[in-house]
Amino acid sequence: MQLSGNLLIGRQSVFGGNGTIHAVHASTGAAIEPAFGGATLDDLDRACALAWAAFDTYRETGPDVRARFLETIAQKIVDIGDDLIERCMAESGLPRTRLEGERGRTVGQLRMFADVVRDGDYIGARVDPAQPERKPLPRVDLRLRHIGLGPVAVFGASNFPLAFSVAGGDTASALAAGCPVIVKAHSAHPGTSELVGRAIQQAVVDCALPEGTFSLLFDSGRDVGQGLIKDHRIKAAGFTGSRGGGMALMQLAVARPEPIPVYAEMSSINPVLLFPHALKNRGETIAGAFVSSLVLGAGQFCTNPGLVFAVDGPELDAFIRAAAAAVENTAAQTMLTPGIRRAYENAVERTGAQEAVTTAARGLDPTAGHQGRSALFVTSAEAFRGNPALQEETFGASSLIVRVPTLDVMLELIESLEGQLTSALHIDEADYADARRMLPALERRTGRILVNGFGTGVEVGHAMVHGGPYPSTADGRSTSVGSLAIHRFLRPVSYQDLPEALLPDALKRDNPLGLNRRIDGKLRLAT
Ligand code: NAP
Repeated sequence: MQLSGNLLIGRQSVFGGNGTIHAVHASTGAAIEPAFGGATLDDLDRACALAWAAFDTYRETGPDVRARFLETIAQKIVDIGDDLIERCMAESGLPRTRLEGERGRTVGQLRMFADVVRDGDYIGARVDPAQPERKPLPRVDLRLRHIGLGPVAVFGASNFPLAFSVAGGDTASALAAGCPVIVKAHSAHPGTSELVGRAIQQAVVDCALPEGTFSLLFDSGRDVGQGLIKDHRIKAAGFTGSRGGGMALMQLAVARPEPIPVYAEMSSINPVLLFPHALKNRGETIAGAFVSSLVLGAGQFCTNPGLVFAVDGPELDAFIRAAAAAVENTAAQTMLTPGIRRAYENAVERTGAQEAVTTAARGLDPTAGHQGRSALFVTSAEAFRGNPALQEETFGASSLIVRVPTLDVMLELIESLEGQLTSALHIDEADYADARRMLPALERRTGRILVNGFGTGVEVGHAMVHGGPYPSTADGRSTSVGSLAIHRFLRPVSYQDLPEALLPDALKRDNPLGLNRRIDGKLRLAT
C-alpha cells in the first residue's frame, strides 16, 4: 500500500506544510521513505474545529451505529494485511510474531468496546422518579446518564505502535464513549500511523459519521502536540510515554483557562517480592521466569520487572546466580528507536555507577546497531533507602535486586516506593501470612497486584487495571487497558423534571434502549 505522508484532517488528506519527519529503520537508523509533512497551527485549528462540530452528533449516535463503527475500524485494520506488519517491523524493530499478536489485541480491543457500547451499562442510567405526594416536600424527577467529555487528543505510544497508538486503547475507549479523537502520531512510526489512520478515516465515511470524528496529525516539533492540549475544544487527552513528556502535557492542561484531564501513563518499576519459602523451594525456576519477563520485547514494557526485593541469604545468592547466568546468555535486541537505545544505555551506566550497586550481569554484546544489552544489578536495602535515583525507571531490560535483611525492612522499603502499575508476589502457602502483611501497602501504591507471575502480559478484559498512583499514571482512579478505560472520557449529567419529549433515549420512561438501570437506587435488569 502506497504511503502519502499526508495528514488526515476529517475527510481530507493533505501534505502538512510545517517541515517534514521521516521514520528510521529501528535496526540501522537509516531514513525510510516517504517524508511526512508536519501539521501547521492552521491544520491543528481545522482538525479541532471539525472535531468540535462533530461532537454533538457523534455522541448521540445509537449503540448499533457506534458499535458498528468500532467493528468497521477493526475489520479495516485486518484488511490492510501484511503491509501493516512489514511497515511496523521496519519502524519499530519489533518482530513479526509480536506485531501480529499486537494487531490481534488492537482489533480485539475495538470489538470489545463495540460490545461495551451495545451493552450500554457504561451509560450508568439512574432514575429517581418524582414523588409528588412526598411529605413534607414533594420529590423532583431526577434522571442521570453519562455523556462523552468532548474531543480527545491521543498521543500514540512508541512501545505499542498498534495497540496503544492510532487505533489503540485510548482511541477505542474515547470513540466508544462518544468522543471524537485527534491523534498526534508518534514520530517513531508515522507510516504505521498513516495506514491505521486511513482505516479509521474510511470507517468514518462508511458509517456516515461526521467527518470530524477522527483526524491524524504529524508534528515536526512540539507545537502541534502542545497546541492540541491547549486548544479550548479539546476536553481530555490520553498519553503513554516518558515522565517528562507526560508532566509537560499535564502542566499545559492545568494552566488552561479551562483545565482538562490528561490520562498519562508514565513510569513504573513494577516491584517483585520474593518471599522466603518460595525463594527456598523454587528460587531457580523463579529466576528463569523473571529473566524471561525482563528481556521480553527488549524490556520495553511499562510493566517490566525493574526492581526485586528479597531477604538476604544463601537462597537469594542462588537466585542471583541463576538470574545472572540467564541474563549473560541473552542476546542483545534492537530497541524501538536509536534515541530510546541511547537513553537506555545511559541509564544503565548511571545505575552501575551508583554507590553500593554492583553489576551482576550484562547480556551478550550487540551484533548490529541500536541493540540494547540486558543488565542486572544488586544493591543493599540501605543503599536503596538513601538513593531516590534507584527508583527511576530504566526503559529497557534492566533490573535491580535489593538484598533486604528482614521482611520488616522489605515492608518499610515498599512504603517508600512511588506509585506502580504492577507489584508481583512470589509466595508458597507458608508465605501467605507474611504476604498478607504487605498487601495494604501494595494496594496503596499499585494498580494490579499479582501472585507467582510477572506484570508483562496485560490481559484486555473487564477486570483489568492498567493504571496506578502517580507517577505510574497521572490519575490512579483510572485504567488505560480494559473496558473500564471508557470511564476516563465520560461525565455524569443529571436531568431534573424534563418532559418525556426532551429526555435522551437512555432515560425515557419505557427504556427504548433496553438498558439495565438503577431505579430508586435498585438495579433493574432490562428484560
Ligand atoms: P516521549 O518522549 O514521552 O514521547 C511520547 C509522545 O509525546 C510523542 O508523541 C512525543 O512527541 C510527545 N511528547 C513528548 N514530550 C513532549 C512535550 N514536551 N511536548 C509535546 N509533546 C511531547 O516517549 P517515547 O518517545 O515513547 O519514549 C521515550 C521514553 O519514554 C523512553 O525512553 C521511556 O523512558 C519512556 N516510555 C515509557 C513508557 C511507559 O509505558 N512507562 C512507554 C514508552 C516510553 P514526538 O513523537 O515528537 O517525540
